[in-house]
Amino acid sequence: TDKIEIIGGGLAGSEAAWQLAEAGVPVRLFEMRGSGEGTPAHQTDHLAELVCSNSFRSDDAERNAVGLLHAEMRALGSLILREADRHRVPAGSALAVDRDGFSAGVTAALAAHPNIEIVRRRVDVLPESGATIVATGPLTAARLAESIGAHTGANALAFFDAIAPIIHRDSIDMSVAWFQSRWNKGDGKDYINCPLDRDQYAAFHQGLIDGEKTAFKEWERDTPYFDGCMPIEVMAERGFDTLRFGPMKPVGLDDPRTGRWPYAVVQLRQDNALGTLWNIVGFQTKLKHAEQVRLFRTIPGLENAEFARLGGLHRNTFINAPALLDPWLRLESHPHIRFAGQITGCEGYVESAAIGLLAGRFACAEAEGRDAALPPRETALGALLGHITGGADAATYQPMNVNFGLFPPLDERARKADRKGLIAARARAALSAWA
Ligand code: FAD
Repeated sequence: TDKIEIIGGGLAGSEAAWQLAEAGVPVRLFEMRGSGEGTPAHQTDHLAELVCSNSFRSDDAERNAVGLLHAEMRALGSLILREADRHRVPAGSALAVDRDGFSAGVTAALAAHPNIEIVRRRVDVLPESGATIVATGPLTAARLAESIGAHTGANALAFFDAIAPIIHRDSIDMSVAWFQSRWNKGDGKDYINCPLDRDQYAAFHQGLIDGEKTAFKEWERDTPYFDGCMPIEVMAERGFDTLRFGPMKPVGLDDPRTGRWPYAVVQLRQDNALGTLWNIVGFQTKLKHAEQVRLFRTIPGLENAEFARLGGLHRNTFINAPALLDPWLRLESHPHIRFAGQITGCEGYVESAAIGLLAGRFACAEAEGRDAALPPRETALGALLGHITGGADAATYQPMNVNFGLFPPLDERARKADRKGLIAARARAALSAWA
């Protein structure tokens, strides 16, 4: 058999290599660190280096979607989870690791595997043929990024994310907010609108200016974000009315409680095909997370909002996966190329490794001449994969952590307190049926 080539030995590439090798498929893994190259965030030559926190977040498979993802990955023989468990440090219900022990463990396991060849070299162009997995992460080297852009179209490759907060639909108070598109365009009900009066707007505007923000990293400052992705607090600083003439524009929106346009409006747009998640339009922000929760809950209708994701703005190379990839993570236009990890627009160590795991399994099935069955949407793996490969809205696609809003809603009228447990139980049943 020809070797399957994997570009990038981070969380995703390492897991993909392991899945293939364990299934008996030979792999060549390219990693540029260790050849005199680096990224602005990595500090070592270890594979699967953790560039920031040493936490894989909650390990609670009953009440947390990322904990559920851990459990599914363990069940499928994940190397990343195996080494995380081996190098676990105390962190309450979270799975945190000794970072050096962890990445040294991953590196040693891959280096010792007879089916894996590790090549310490930077790859600059996508190969024209041969099954390849691209897992070069949020800090993909510039020349390869250029080659990826040439294959995907420049508009389908981003170098910065501009993340607006996403809210669980069932936590929005619809006795205050209402469905309507501006001037009743489209089918007239495409947006959820939250009205603000003058005092509420003034307080909100001041809150944006006063709120504590996260600074850009030194190496992020030379990559400009577009004007269209300007953080709302920067817009707020430009003048009292800037937001009212921008994303908080009230014109053409009639508050059903007054029959009139409010002073200002916050609009939410549907974020996934299931309709369970809604993003706040134009609200990308560098405000600290706790500040976002506090301030956005002052918006009428969002007092009890539950956030599936908070806003952010970072250097982050990722493709418009819902528009470009088939359900097996292959580039539709060049199906010998498969993407995995954060470059697909998932977010986080665990999610990146999870998509690496699936990419490895799909590539393995393909090498054996079969079509891999997709993980059911009811599983955490299937929910995350489904979001990336088509469930998310391609027009507004931005990186996303795994969360319960990505799962198909429960059929029965489950009590709120029981829902997470029911989703987890349904996922376990679906995973064992699939595996
Ligand atoms: P990576 O782990 O980055 O792996 C990509 C690999 O490809 C790297 O080893 C790189 O050297 C290599 N590479 C790149 N280009 C080439 C090339 N042309 N040829 C050969 N090799 C190449 N997630 C969390 O869950 N928690 C955090 O605390 C966290 N902090 C982050 C902090 C920063 C600064 C960044 C940028 C991201 C952070 N993330 C965090 C997000 C994300 O989970 C990690 O970046 C994660 O490592 C992504 O996994 P990956 O395998 O997709 O990419």
